[in-house]
Amino acid sequence: MSENNFPFPEVQRFRPASLEELAELVRQAVASRTPIYPIGGGTSLRYGGLPTRPGWGLSLQQLRRMVDYPARDLTITVEAGLPVAELQTLLAQQGQWWPVDAPQPDQATVGGVVACNLNGPHRYAWGSVSDYVLGLTAVDGQGMVFAAGSRVVKNAAGYNLCRLLAGSLGALAVIAQVTLRVQPLPETTAFAAAKLEDWDLADRLLRQLMQSQLLPTAIQLAVGPAWTDDPVLGELKPPAKAWLIVGLEGSAKEVAWQVEQLQSAWQAEGLRQVQILREPQSQAMWRRLVEFPVLPGLDSRLANGLPPVPNAHHGVGEERFLVVQAGVLPSQVVALAARWVQMDRRISVLAHAGHGSLVGYFPLDGVDARRWLQESIFPSVSSQHGHVHVLSAPTGVVLSPAELWSQPPCQDRLMQAIKQRFDPDGILNPGRLGFDA
Ligand SMILES: Cc1cc2nc3c(=O)[nH]c(=O)nc-3n(C[C@H](O)[C@H](O)[C@H](O)COP(=O)(O)OP(=O)(O)OC[C@H]3O[C@@H](n4cnc5c(N)ncnc54)[C@H](O)[C@@H]3O)c2cc1C
Repeated sequence: MSENNFPFPEVQRFRPASLEELAELVRQAVASRTPIYPIGGGTSLRYGGLPTRPGWGLSLQQLRRMVDYPARDLTITVEAGLPVAELQTLLAQQGQWWPVDAPQPDQATVGGVVACNLNGPHRYAWGSVSDYVLGLTAVDGQGMVFAAGSRVVKNAAGYNLCRLLAGSLGALAVIAQVTLRVQPLPETTAFAAAKLEDWDLADRLLRQLMQSQLLPTAIQLAVGPAWTDDPVLGELKPPAKAWLIVGLEGSAKEVAWQVEQLQSAWQAEGLRQVQILREPQSQAMWRRLVEFPVLPGLDSRLANGLPPVPNAHHGVGEERFLVVQAGVLPSQVVALAARWVQMDRRISVLAHAGHGSLVGYFPLDGVDARRWLQESIFPSVSSQHGHVHVLSAPTGVVLSPAELWSQPPCQDRLMQAIKQRFDPDGILNPGRLGFDA
């Protein structure tokens, strides 16, 4: 077991302080056929396949400088090891932000977030992580430095290698520097939340919201024990089944108008208690939504001796869970959330209803992870024509690529050819995307 209790079979850890040092280390690894495991903040090392071959841990934490910030162009270039919270602090000084929902932002790094390309509640309004990567500099599996994209928003020439590396989990190249597109910070944020007693009403309210003139930045449906005694929203008792939580961001005037519209639309539907959360409660709600997918035992703050993220796992206790993320058409979200919670009363779900993504916690007491996936989760998602992958599993649960992703990247011939081109010796993160598993 390596330092910080992370599941990477390291024999040695290196912390290059420059791009040249990083490239040189990769070349040395190629020469000795030693696997390399890039490590950012270490918050998502259990997302993806577990590496099996011992190798070098390559920490990016010393590569954390801001390289260039032409704020008026709404772009910033930073080194990949910069923690997300530090990036957001820098941007906030110019009234800007990177609209990405990385859990544990004081540890998660920009390079790690791009390498994972996972998305949370803000994706509905702002797009995905990869939409914000304008350019990057990286080192491939031969130790060759290459640049992709550019530092400007208008750039359309050549293959879009930024999109290829986003989500590659460090199996194609080590990202050293990233140019991001950023956005103006909203003046204020608020939430409207209501308890729903039946699934038909949930469906109807979501449809109305989509057809209305409102522009919410997040549309969430929260169900299950994690949400019955919520630190921000309060109690959810039968006959109430779910929370509908709508995030609004923008100028104070825009937000006030949208809150008013939502309140009257929901009251017309017979919803008696509509809660409105304004700052600072709305910020607490954002944190709660963003941190929800982080499995209790995997909070890397604990591994680093820091206190756990406040309220992150409220309601899911110390039990062992499998956390999965599914993607379906937005019109199928309510049906899938209802189906999941009917499978077992211990299951909790947070659905990003506007863009058809659901995160589910499946208890591992009594049912093992494989059985959950094969007998219940995969059939429920494929019957809605969706896709699903495992976000995280507790220590000791080892899953094959076909169990981690219903369609594993390593089984795709095009992906195999790309892997071969970027990393012919297979030294970059072997096992993480299923290659060499
Ligand atoms: C359960 C769960 C839910 C999540 N939900 C969301 C979400 O809703 N929204 C969101 O934006 N993100 C989400 N994430 C992703 C996560 O927030 C970040 O992407 C993550 O924190 C990565 O940052 P890190 O620096 O800690 O990476 P690490 O944990 O250190 O690394 C993660 C992976 O990326 C590779 N890697 C790290 N740095 C580099 C680099 N510089 N070059 C190449 N490869 C690299 C590592 O080898 C590893 O495979 C989720 C993650 C998990 C596990």
